[in-house]
This record gives sequence, structure tokens and C-alpha cells, in this order.
Amino acid sequence: MTPKHQTRRAFLGSTALAGAALPFAGTALARPDRTGDFVYEIQRTKEEWLETLSEYEYAILRDAGTEWAKSSDLWDDYRAGEFHCKGCDLHVYSSEWRVELNKGYVFFSQSTPTHVLMDIDRGSPYSMSGTGEGAMIEAHCRRCGSHLGHILTVDGILVHCINGTSLKFEPSAT
Ligand SMILES: [Zn+2]
Repeated sequence: MTPKHQTRRAFLGSTALAGAALPFAGTALARPDRTGDFVYEIQRTKEEWLETLSEYEYAILRDAGTEWAKSSDLWDDYRAGEFHCKGCDLHVYSSEWRVELNKGYVFFSQSTPTHVLMDIDRGSPYSMSGTGEGAMIEAHCRRCGSHLGHILTVDGILVHCINGTSLKFEPSAT
């Protein structure tokens, strides 16, 4: 089974550890090509992005990939603190909005108002190509356009399901 053909259940139930695993294949959402009338404040070439992001991080943030469940250090780190976009450091989530779901991603009930934008991800691994069926609501950074994750219903709860790879966590001072 390739990641592209995994069902959402398999996706959220996956316990694959990512050590050497590549993220899910990116979708057709590479940011610089799909801005339409909206111009992101931060525009960088791939070469410029790779000065601060690894190839793995680039695949997720800039090519809208999805990390393997439980592959980031953040999914079960529930310390208080702030979460910033790894692409541009914009504050996008706070620990007070964390939702504890044992699914291997970083879940939030909301984002920082106006800092996260949404799109329809017709290229998600769960959509039927071209039909829109299975398309998902995608979440990305308002300032640099980097892909953060998706907004979906998990165990009956509507949440932002975010790649830990897309986030930079700053724990609160103790
Ligand atoms: Zn950003």
C-alpha cells in the first residue's frame, strides 16, 4: 500500500514512525503557484527556503506533504507555550487550544485569529482525483503560505490537524 492510497482511518491510525520515512507525497498546492489574487507577505525561491528548511521540512511546508503519524516530537508534548510557523515564525497556535487526541498529530480547536488561512485540498491522498470527493480543508500560514495541516473531524471533534514538522514550539517560561 502506498501512502497515496491509505484511507483516512489508516492515516489517523497509523503508528508508523517516521525516522527514515518520507512524508506523504505533496499535493498540487505548492504555494507560489496558487496564490491567485492574494500575495503572501513572504516570497522565497526554493533555494532560499532550503537555507532554513531541510528537504523533509520543505516537502511538508512548501509542497503540502503530510508527515507520518507520531513522527514529530510535538504530537504528545502538551507543555504550555506558543506554536509558530516554521517557515516565517508567525504565531499560529497556542497550547491553550490543544486538543488531546492520541492520533499522532498536533490538534488544536482554533488558530490565532487571522494568522491561518484555509483552502480546499483536492490533491490530498484521500481525494478522488478531479472529482473533489474526499477533498479536505487545508490550513496554511497567512504570512508565508506554508502548509500547516488540515481542518477535519476526528472522533466527532472539529479540529486543526497540524504537522508538528510545520511548527516551531516555544514553551512558556516556568
Ligand atoms: Zn509562515
